[in-house]
Amino acid sequence: MEILVLVDHVDNEIKKVTLELLTLARSLGSPAAVWAGPGWSEEARTKLAEYGADKVYVADDQAIADHVVAPTAELLAGLVADKAPAAVLIASTGEGKEIAGRLAIKTDSGVLTDAVGLGEGFVAEQPIFGGGVNVRSRVVKGTPIVTVRLNSTVPAAAPAAGAEERVSVALSESARSARVVERVKEEKGARPELAEAEIVVSGGRGVGSGENFAIIERLADSLGAAVGASRAATDEGWYPHQFQVGQTGKTVSPQLYIAVGISGAIQHRAGMQTAKTIVVINKDEKAPIFEIADFGVVGDLHTVTPQLTEEIIKRK
Ligand SMILES: Cc1cc2nc3c(=O)[nH]c(=O)nc-3n(C[C@H](O)[C@H](O)[C@H](O)COP(=O)(O)OP(=O)(O)OC[C@H]3O[C@@H](n4cnc5c(N)ncnc54)[C@H](O)[C@@H]3O)c2cc1C
Repeated sequence: MEILVLVDHVDNEIKKVTLELLTLARSLGSPAAVWAGPGWSEEARTKLAEYGADKVYVADDQAIADHVVAPTAELLAGLVADKAPAAVLIASTGEGKEIAGRLAIKTDSGVLTDAVGLGEGFVAEQPIFGGGVNVRSRVVKGTPIVTVRLNSTVPAAAPAAGAEERVSVALSESARSARVVERVKEEKGARPELAEAEIVVSGGRGVGSGENFAIIERLADSLGAAVGASRAATDEGWYPHQFQVGQTGKTVSPQLYIAVGISGAIQHRAGMQTAKTIVVINKDEKAPIFEIADFGVVGDLHTVTPQLTEEIIKRK
């Protein structure tokens, strides 16, 4: 039972979510990775094989990267028609969800997005209504297409053949109708990418100012974590909007989420409550965020957070 896994790669580097998807696919069938776009290498093949890809379909074509998402959807649709896979797994990123939607239309199939688990019969677990309710859903038409949230599965190596098979895609006129005209590389700091990070430390209105976010950054750096912020903090201009966590920001699902000076509004929870362990620092013991906390400190963040940072550094 072949399961297609779309490889998420940037600058020739395979993103961790791909290894998570391969691990998940292995529990349900035989994973076949799909590499779309330029940058294919023996190193990439070895990595995919290491995490269980029995096969790798390679479409190492510059045109795929030049026309935004439509070519990848066409490539996958071709593979669904040719190989009749049992399911297609894609990372739940903005791009991944757009590819999944297009693929569903092309193959007349059902699509489930933002799954945090996938079990027998491709029954997906999805948090809905901002994470307030969990549902189990199954595609009942066509080939199940499922996008899976980052950090939902712990990637585990399990070497497989990684047999390479070259495939090509003849792009339609409509797939070529939007073209990438420029790529600007975003300066990446030393911290991990927010959506992928194993640990996230987020600050909210309680932090009090942009300068005070240094307290959050210091704690994050002591743990090798990414920094996040509530919408109240980003709306105040204390931290850039791309770091906002929540319904209208990024969805994170780290092993550890530390919420500092955040009340826990439903829109914030929607973006973080699938974190494995939630730690809260808040001066108001009645703050709703404590309802989902595994550990909490009731206290002033300006006192508690630097002490915590110091203690972590001391114990390293
Ligand atoms: C359509 C819509 C979409 C939204 N999307 C998002 C979203 O994506 N992400 C998001 O975060 N919000 C979102 N919001 C906003 C959300 O409703 C809340 O307003 C927001 O999350 C509040 O942020 P906060 O917890 O930082 O601030 P507050 O609710 O003001 O909470 C601040 C907390 O800090 C504590 N505090 C204050 N001082 C200290 C101190 N010195 N030490 C310790 N604790 C202290 C307080 O006790 C309080 O609990 C959205 C709202 C709407 C309507």
